[in-house]
Amino acid sequence: MSTTEVIHPSTESDFDVAIVGYGPVGQALAALLGRAGHRVAAFERFKEIYRMPRAVHLDHEIMRLLQALGLADVLAKEMVPVRDYQWLGADGEPLLRFDPQNPAPSGWEGSYMFFQPELETSIHRDACLPADVTVERGWVAEGLEDLGDRVELTLHRVSEEEPGQLTSTGEYRRVRARWVVGADGANSFVRETCGISRRDLGFQERWLVVDAEPHDMRALAHLPIASQRCDPARPTTVVQSGPRHRRWEFMLLPHEQPSDFEDPERVWALLEPWYRPEDGPLTRSTVYEFRSKVAERMRTGRMLIVGDAAHLTPPFLGQGLCSGLRDAANVAWKLDLVLRGLASERLLDTVERERQPQNEAVIRFAIELGKVLCQLDPKAAAERDVMLREAGPPPPLELAPLTAGLLHQPIGEPDPLAGTLSVQGVVEHAGQEGRFDDVVGRGFQLIVADGDPFEHLSSRHRTLLDMLGATVTSLDPAAPRGVRDRDGRLTAWLSAHNAHAVLIRPDFYVFGGAASAEAVPDLLDDLHTQLQIKFTAATSGALR
Ligand SMILES: Cc1cc2nc3c(=O)[nH]c(=O)nc-3n(C[C@H](O)[C@H](O)[C@H](O)COP(=O)(O)OP(=O)(O)OC[C@H]3O[C@@H](n4cnc5c(N)ncnc54)[C@H](O)[C@@H]3O)c2cc1C
Repeated sequence: MSTTEVIHPSTESDFDVAIVGYGPVGQALAALLGRAGHRVAAFERFKEIYRMPRAVHLDHEIMRLLQALGLADVLAKEMVPVRDYQWLGADGEPLLRFDPQNPAPSGWEGSYMFFQPELETSIHRDACLPADVTVERGWVAEGLEDLGDRVELTLHRVSEEEPGQLTSTGEYRRVRARWVVGADGANSFVRETCGISRRDLGFQERWLVVDAEPHDMRALAHLPIASQRCDPARPTTVVQSGPRHRRWEFMLLPHEQPSDFEDPERVWALLEPWYRPEDGPLTRSTVYEFRSKVAERMRTGRMLIVGDAAHLTPPFLGQGLCSGLRDAANVAWKLDLVLRGLASERLLDTVERERQPQNEAVIRFAIELGKVLCQLDPKAAAERDVMLREAGPPPPLELAPLTAGLLHQPIGEPDPLAGTLSVQGVVEHAGQEGRFDDVVGRGFQLIVADGDPFEHLSSRHRTLLDMLGATVTSLDPAAPRGVRDRDGRLTAWLSAHNAHAVLIRPDFYVFGGAASAEAVPDLLDDLHTQLQIKFTAATSGALR
């Protein structure tokens, strides 16, 4: 720093959590923590929400997360559900047709196409601001120091005369937070400063990404909502991005350079089969390098990384952002318990153990799909086409369950429900009918198939559930805490696993199941032990 630079010192503890980077993952994490009542600040280098969408697809699990933020019903109207996703051969005829899931396990349709700037605007305006999240734009995080009981973040004030062109103002400032989370994207400063390396999973391809804002979407109604054209002459993605935008992605051939596509005529020539200048303007055309990387760690002391900072996924599954939002959901409830003094900070070590194997499985799956889609050899592509046409519709996409971390580990047989994604059904209670989380509540959820859910629980178990703010529900409407299982999906799910009860975590993953009412206390005891929940003096009376 030069002598003319101004440094504003920090106060003792400015925030509970400081988030570096206010892209979609940083926003979602800020909203979840802000709504839980914590003092949260997000620092972002750019002045405005980035107007150029990257992600266009999200899945049912993310809809349930948006539901938790109170946004899903409104946002669903600005999204297009994917009821027909096809892969087409070079001849334009179908190779594969994916059956839509409706409803998918999380209680929403399986997949949606959306316009990323609208999603980000909504998370910021309708979830972060009402939750009193401090959002400071025009600050670049440049220094991080772990002070033991908190972290000091050095921020550099920048001005942005032209979008994306940052210049120094010479002003610096320090803030302190109990925890810092890097949601600062692929070139993460937080990851670099923590010295966290990444493994390269070996996929690298350049694709031209073209977005358009048609004058009249009805005139383009014949175009697919989502499709892959597996043409060895030029693999191409053709999709809608919300109700008012369209997206094409074209693979660059080995001899081509990004600069070849700076000429708009080249771009229009590629678009010709689907879209012409009279249909409306292009809002951007940029070459991206699709990469595949996994960070070796997600936590160092009081610092964590999430989203693209922790993993990069080729977009063939439309899962990069979804993975990042799953990270946010996972980190949020754990930081909440740690900040409330209920759990030891060791709980945060489970973030990486739970998230990175699933993130890596998503990347590897996307790479395998990419290899099939990106086939440039006409002979191999023709063989692939025959094989895919014979194979018939693939099963619905299911992500790998969590395999380690904060999951029920009964003595003897492993618990088949532990680590799987839970089901959200439609229930009725006290005259209200709707999705379970809206009618009953979110957070930890203990659901039993029938009878009184408290039948075998001690006051200690009740206190644990109270401290966690858990909802407790019986699917027998006549029982205490009973609800009517309107669509029968929760009952069917428990019965398919021979389970009497299931305990769901706030990120929608199952902690564990219990085969009988008598086994529910063991389930709760295991949760208590693993969380290392500290009962306070105020609760200790109830615990005896
Ligand atoms: C062409 C393409 C298509 C895709 N399609 C899909 C899809 O359909 N579905 C899907 O799920 N995913 C998709 N993805 C992936 C998805 O876009 C990313 O995974 C997602 O945007 C990552 O979000 P993030 O918040 O982690 O990072 P980012 O969106 O990169 O946000 C990081 C933020 O941190 C800020 N920042 C960085 N460094 C600093 C610093 N030092 N100080 C302050 N601020 C900083 C940046 O300015 C930025 O705003 C696609 C990606 C591409 C490229």
